[in-house]
Amino acid sequence: MAKTVSSADVIIVGAGASGLMCAIHTGRKGLKVLVLEKNKKPGMKILVSGGGRCNFTNLWADPREHYLSENPHFCFAAMSRYSPWDFVDMVDKHQIGYHEKTLGQQFCNDSSKQILAMLLDECAQTGVTIELNAEVTDIQPDDKGFSVRTQNQTFEAKKVVLASGGLSLPKIASALAFQTANKLDLSVVAPRAALVPLTWNTSDKALFEPLSGISLDVVASCLGVSFREGMLFTHRGLSGPAILQISSYWREGESVSINLLPDVDAESWLRETREQKPQSMVSSQLKTLLPNRLVEQMDGHWFEDIQIGNLSNTKLTHLAKQLNSWKFKPGGSEGYRTAEVTIGGIDTAELSSKTMECKRYPNLYVIGEAVDVTGWLGGYNFQWAWASAYSCALAL
Ligand SMILES: Cc1cc2nc3c(=O)[nH]c(=O)nc-3n(C[C@H](O)[C@H](O)[C@H](O)COP(=O)(O)OP(=O)(O)OC[C@H]3O[C@@H](n4cnc5c(N)ncnc54)[C@H](O)[C@@H]3O)c2cc1C
Repeated sequence: MAKTVSSADVIIVGAGASGLMCAIHTGRKGLKVLVLEKNKKPGMKILVSGGGRCNFTNLWADPREHYLSENPHFCFAAMSRYSPWDFVDMVDKHQIGYHEKTLGQQFCNDSSKQILAMLLDECAQTGVTIELNAEVTDIQPDDKGFSVRTQNQTFEAKKVVLASGGLSLPKIASALAFQTANKLDLSVVAPRAALVPLTWNTSDKALFEPLSGISLDVVASCLGVSFREGMLFTHRGLSGPAILQISSYWREGESVSINLLPDVDAESWLRETREQKPQSMVSSQLKTLLPNRLVEQMDGHWFEDIQIGNLSNTKLTHLAKQLNSWKFKPGGSEGYRTAEVTIGGIDTAELSSKTMECKRYPNLYVIGEAVDVTGWLGGYNFQWAWASAYSCALAL
């Protein structure tokens, strides 16, 4: 039988990015905070983030541009209260070295461990208690506030913050946010894996699999959205930042259009080359712009390797289309196993955008990735975790 413990003013479920941030700012207000974490270590996603260097924020994070949600306005209030510079201030205070990699993305010089150590240090300074190996199985409103059940104990608190994250990396994550929403009849935006590699469909696999390891700068477009970044061929499909970004917009059954030569109008270039160097082979011309292995593999599929002067207008136009808008139809995505985030989550219509409190369950709050707000790749997701946590803490 689970033992009931009278516990804290506020229970935060999840010692991840948002949970720890919320604990710090709630602890600073003098409230007694208990964080329950299912894993034996806190902040495991922080540790694996940014390839071990934690891309902890993005200085250009713009709620109007870099976030996906059924309600794109929802994140404005929290994001305006806690800016990327606020987080950078804390990083500076802890003398953690960092650098901008690209496009406003801030990474630790050494290790993600420093960001986690900073958050844990701030928690310790404000007297926050973190209980590890405490997997929450149930959250129920009762006459004293909420009862929060783990396998061995039942905790009581007036206020509860659900900061249990999304479904990506199943070994670390749990579906608690979705299970709780289900029990409390809170509406949910259906989850799907995002910032995730896309896989070959069965008919493309044999042709493209040998290209594994090739990377190039592309523009990937889907459903009216485009990203110009790197793309990587893998055994399973396509990866790299351009593909991870577009995966958040891609829907089952849709194609992704890939421009393999973003700086070249392939039709004009092929026409000019046909006129100026008619004796040269199509493949040797393509190799001036594209990796040799890619050209050799597409020989016989996208083009016939003849003298370019003999290329008919129809074949030239066909090749140009492959180069500037190759239609890649993914078989699927690699799913939550490799996804960085979960799109969807607890419907923002259930929450106050200022406090993150549930409209129908006063004193229950939801923050971070559990909410239907998802950022682009590049430090935007942590910025949402910090900002939603901070806004919530102000209201607790
Ligand atoms: C490989 C990888 C790399 C990433 N890199 C970056 C990056 O560089 N920059 C960036 O901005 N974003 C990155 N992200 C995304 C970022 O990690 C998340 O968006 C962010 O951690 C979300 O914060 P959160 O607090 O909502 O969830 P989390 O950080 O996932 O924290 C949730 C916590 O709740 C705990 N928990 C779950 N269920 C329970 C339960 N039932 N009981 C108790 N505890 C529970 C979990 O163990 C976890 O500690 C990356 C994600 C992955 C998977």
